[in-house]
Amino acid sequence: MTGITQCELLVVGAGPAGLAAATLAARHGVDVMLLDEQPTPGGQIYRAITTTPLRTQETLGKDYWHGETLVNAFKRSHARYQAGATVWAVSRMTTPDPQSGFEVGYSVAGEARMLYARNIILATGAQERPFPIPGWTLPGVMTVGAAQTMFKTTGIVPGKRTVLAGCGPLLYLVAWQYMNAGVKIEALLDTTAANGLSLALPHVWGFLRSPYLAKGLKLVHEVRAKARIIRGITALEAVGADKLDHVRYTADGKTAELPSDQLLLHQGVVPNINLSQALGVQLRWSETMLCWEPEVDDWGNTNVAEVSVAGDGASITGALAAEHLGRLVALEACRQLGKIDQATRDSEGQTHRKALARAVLGRDFFDRLYLPPEQFRIPVGDTIVCRCEEVTAAQVREAVKLGCPGPNQMKSFLRCGMGPCQGRFCNGTVTEVIAQERGLTPQEVGHYRLRFPTKPLTLGELASLPQTDASKQAVIRLKKQP
Ligand SMILES: Cc1cc2nc3c(=O)[nH]c(=O)nc-3n(C[C@H](O)[C@H](O)[C@H](O)COP(=O)(O)OP(=O)(O)OC[C@H]3O[C@@H](n4cnc5c(N)ncnc54)[C@H](O)[C@@H]3O)c2cc1C
Repeated sequence: MTGITQCELLVVGAGPAGLAAATLAARHGVDVMLLDEQPTPGGQIYRAITTTPLRTQETLGKDYWHGETLVNAFKRSHARYQAGATVWAVSRMTTPDPQSGFEVGYSVAGEARMLYARNIILATGAQERPFPIPGWTLPGVMTVGAAQTMFKTTGIVPGKRTVLAGCGPLLYLVAWQYMNAGVKIEALLDTTAANGLSLALPHVWGFLRSPYLAKGLKLVHEVRAKARIIRGITALEAVGADKLDHVRYTADGKTAELPSDQLLLHQGVVPNINLSQALGVQLRWSETMLCWEPEVDDWGNTNVAEVSVAGDGASITGALAAEHLGRLVALEACRQLGKIDQATRDSEGQTHRKALARAVLGRDFFDRLYLPPEQFRIPVGDTIVCRCEEVTAAQVREAVKLGCPGPNQMKSFLRCGMGPCQGRFCNGTVTEVIAQERGLTPQEVGHYRLRFPTKPLTLGELASLPQTDASKQAVIRLKKQP
């Protein structure tokens, strides 16, 4: 076992859920290892919190700096942490000892490593929902989240004529953060569905008691006061020969164009499920959130014993909720590892459950208000669906007409979902296009079967694995996967 790290609990993801989970478990005496592919802890919301050049509190806002509390508490815990570590495979140990847990493949700086863990918490967070419109793969078009990542880590804004388009809180937050830094926004094209408010209104009571209410209204008010907002967008296109030249949109039945060299798209976030999916965690299509979600119980347990999911990786509930969920899931892992009994788990869990209930107030309102309209989720014609393999919506629809029943068969027909992202981005879109074409529900159509490695892995990386019997067996298993 030389050269292979061992731990009782592996936490994947150092966002609020993972940081809170690792800190709590370490406090209960669990030997914890936290792996995250980013160079610093914080996850999406608190990205680069220890290193960002934007040190003025007002630029990124107070909520961002709350992340320091989590990172500092984690640093004081006895949990181990490896930054820049991408987890690409997890499999159950093959030894007869049922206590032996999992072997995990991950890479750091181009070198593959292995780790043994008895219990795993996946806190892999969220990713942006694809926004497949004509021209969305042109240089100059990126997601709001990608632009925010660049901004938080380097303070850079890549374009000069910025147009934001889409719906959801993150769209307005990034507009606000840009404006705080003096970035000019040409326009914000709001694609919120016409029936969004009527769907959301029955849930307004929760929103009125939400901790986000005052902050959210202030933020939207400030953005509206300074930026040109165009509402009621029903069609959107990024236009340019080899890079973005202008944005074409339709609002109130009229089509117009805006010159732009930076179009930032956003229509909410969905759980990042590729590790849980590849591990065999049961997924279900959420009709409320219109995405795949792992099936978890109140303690984050999945159908795979000793594997739980915490935070936005289970269901989108936001950063504060992710933090409390991380603690609840960690309590259950502590119980499974024999560090606390069920009564302690339940009594300690009460505080976190109350905090969680408060943190999710208003979510139902937001989720319904910002449900992305069909024309921005389920593309037609030559719009690209699978970016890696450049497969269009028309090709997917044609394959269905030829008898292709679902996403897995689509891989054979078109190599759809078989590129470097392994279907991470087009998973939901492909399911929805097929479901629409076949007149079925997404749940009936199903999802990609994911295989390890879930992230691109070079032969050089694999060759750098410590040469033990266990690591050789792990590579053989990678090759043998169905
Ligand atoms: C691009 C983006 C930007 C966002 N910005 C904001 C914001 O400014 N404000 C806000 O309120 N909400 C924001 N959100 C929503 C936000 O992600 C969450 O509400 C919150 O961060 C969820 O916390 P989490 O701990 O569940 O996951 P995250 O904070 O997303 O953390 C998950 C972590 O898991 C790591 N990870 C994932 N897969 C692997 C792997 N295979 N190996 C190793 N590490 C892995 C990631 O690097 C990440 O650090 C953003 C979401 C996205 C997608």
